[in-house]
Amino acid sequence: MVETFDENNTSATRGTRPEYQRLVAAIRSGRITAVVFWEQDRYSRSVRETEDLLDMAQKFGVRAASSSGGEIDLTSPTGRYNTTMAGAAARKETEQMSKRLRRAFDQKAAAGLPHGAPPYGWKRVKEVDRSGAVVESHDLLDEAQAQVIRDAVTMLRGGTSLRATAIALNERGLFSPRLSHKDADGGRHPLPWASITLKQVLLRARNAGLRTHRGVVLEGVTGEWPPIFDVDTHHWLVTTLNDPRRQTNKGSTRKHLLTGIAICGRCGSNAIVVNVGRIGTNGKHQPPAYVCQTCTRIRRKQSDVDAVVEEVLIAILERPGALDHLVTGNADDVARAHKAKVDAEANMEFAADQFGHHRWTAAQVARVNAIAMPEIAEAEAVIAANQPAALPVHLAGPNAKANWYETATLDEKRTLIRALVTVKIMPVGPGRSFDRSLIEIRPLRPEISQPRLRADGVRGDVPPRRSGH
Ligand SMILES: [Zn+2]
Repeated sequence: MVETFDENNTSATRGTRPEYQRLVAAIRSGRITAVVFWEQDRYSRSVRETEDLLDMAQKFGVRAASSSGGEIDLTSPTGRYNTTMAGAAARKETEQMSKRLRRAFDQKAAAGLPHGAPPYGWKRVKEVDRSGAVVESHDLLDEAQAQVIRDAVTMLRGGTSLRATAIALNERGLFSPRLSHKDADGGRHPLPWASITLKQVLLRARNAGLRTHRGVVLEGVTGEWPPIFDVDTHHWLVTTLNDPRRQTNKGSTRKHLLTGIAICGRCGSNAIVVNVGRIGTNGKHQPPAYVCQTCTRIRRKQSDVDAVVEEVLIAILERPGALDHLVTGNADDVARAHKAKVDAEANMEFAADQFGHHRWTAAQVARVNAIAMPEIAEAEAVIAANQPAALPVHLAGPNAKANWYETATLDEKRTLIRALVTVKIMPVGPGRSFDRSLIEIRPLRPEISQPRLRADGVRGDVPPRRSGH
């Protein structure tokens, strides 16, 4: 039996380390015979705790190994030193591998070649020689799809809102490039346009023949594909669609997590603004609160609402493949990469299990990990390359919690919230204290939800489900 203790995976209170405490308790109780430390990631942060655990493992006669560096000699300082060094070396190797992959993408970009499957608006034409081998392939306009994009631009230029434009396209029976999840018979069908999908498609620099790479337009590189509209139109779209006044309602700034995103549960308006510095009936300053500007009847303490939404978002982002349904590149590539990643992770878990049962030596475990870790890095690079550029995909994954609190910008957080959930602040009776179930957070797609996440509002009094896996 293998049990995983993941300190990045806890959705309980910030600051404490419930998983760490749980592992300590397991060692003390004698329930555990061996510990394998996973340290290719988050290494520096957990190094002190790793040392503490090593001390304890020695005291309670538990075998210990690192996922990368083999069995740890608990009796010598050298053993401890080697563990630290091996962990650092493994981390470096992983980083170098993703660097090599990035370089391959770089070269393709510099040549103006497209990456991945032809996106919405184009079709790929392949020239084959007599033997049937592909000698050349290039992208041509898919005239029908290109026209949908031009029509959307025309509507926007005429002052139609993004949302109304998406609705108008759907009413004409035109579908977005986004595909549904597999339905009962295993097929995937195109979804209607949503504002966010339309915006992503309209903002692609490749529409104007510009090649972007890692979110930046490459100067002097012309894409090897026919543009849908000119560069001026692209610049107009970027300015217009990124105008904060367009996204949120008048008066609100984007200094807050949920302004213009949260919806009033009473009147349905999204004119939720933050009210700072209000003086309460007791004459004291009240904490900043989200209030509905339209009906003025909804008011909720900002930090409480943010905490609930953040907890749910992190739980979603931690889930493997959390953003897969937003793929704009080749969905098959992503599915394959995802399977490769899961398989590689399973191999590492199996190896750890064998070590725990004294069937394998630490060196055998290290060999498995040396193969699995680059495979995981490669798979992650493929998954990232097929996501929309506007989506900060690097924030998802097992480190989602640390990423959220340490590296994510406010804009990135808001982008992820918009892409994944709807947030509704439900009315509450007068004088009642904060009730988290009255913050209704619904995944935009049902498959985003997961067992420990109650889509209809997460309650704090239900302890998060924990089980070995
Ligand atoms: Zn309202």
